[in-house]
Amino acid sequence: MQTTPTKQTPSLYRHRVGDIVVTAILDGTLQGAFSILQGMPEEAMAGEMAAAFRPGQPVLSISCYLIHAAGRVILVDSGAGANEMFDGGRLPAGLNAAGVSPDGVDTVVVTHLHPDHTGGLATPDGRAVFRNAELLLHEDERRFWLDGPVREGMEPYFAAAKAATAPYAGAMRIVSGGEVAPGISLVPLPGHTPGHSGLRIASGSQQMLLWTDIVHLPLLQARHPEVTIAFDFDPEQARAQRRRLFDEVATDRLLVAGTHMDFPTFAHLERSGEGYAFVPQRWLPQL
Ligand SMILES: [Zn+2]
Repeated sequence: MQTTPTKQTPSLYRHRVGDIVVTAILDGTLQGAFSILQGMPEEAMAGEMAAAFRPGQPVLSISCYLIHAAGRVILVDSGAGANEMFDGGRLPAGLNAAGVSPDGVDTVVVTHLHPDHTGGLATPDGRAVFRNAELLLHEDERRFWLDGPVREGMEPYFAAAKAATAPYAGAMRIVSGGEVAPGISLVPLPGHTPGHSGLRIASGSQQMLLWTDIVHLPLLQARHPEVTIAFDFDPEQARAQRRRLFDEVATDRLLVAGTHMDFPTFAHLERSGEGYAFVPQRWLPQL
């Protein structure tokens, strides 16, 4: 007798930007709660989500990205790994399905040092998962999490950031922005964390923005960009950053993708009513 399948196969989605190919890999999910969001009454958020066919407490997707560019293999973030705060750790299966071994990754860009982005960097016994890779990080992110004082109440986050990056101590590339590989530029987007950074990817006449944690609940925050999440280091700055980028990408009709957007995460943003709405990319079998 066949058992009823309940798991997805490793989930990948590829998008071409000129000569560059960006692959989204679904690592897992994060169980959220309306109580960790600010900027709107909890009941109103829950009501709007239920009316939009997302009843119950919010669940956030966690994705990573693989970039093939000019012979380089660049991983953007590493998912949640075995961290028990999340249902993650599917990145290795996703990489395997993408035909990339961990040893074949030459650069890991870490957009910021939160555990849902760094959990897959190290093995439980403290070895580097990506043994041949340099770890690329914004200077303000290193200063805050690795070099600065541990903030009260955030001890587990600081410990996780240090444990995840320790095996790469001799292979860190600390940058302040600008081109990090051909066609790929690191764009500082501080607010969510001090050194939170996205990537602008451009090749030929095409471009896109990997904006990582600019949105956590795409459906709700598109309509209400003022909604912030408790993990935002500077909620005011995070909100202003989101408003500025929403206006920019809607005006420029720029394709975006982000860690916590609904998989496969690639979408355009259009103005809708008082706010915005995401228009997801359609799925094609061949680039
Ligand atoms: Zn995140």
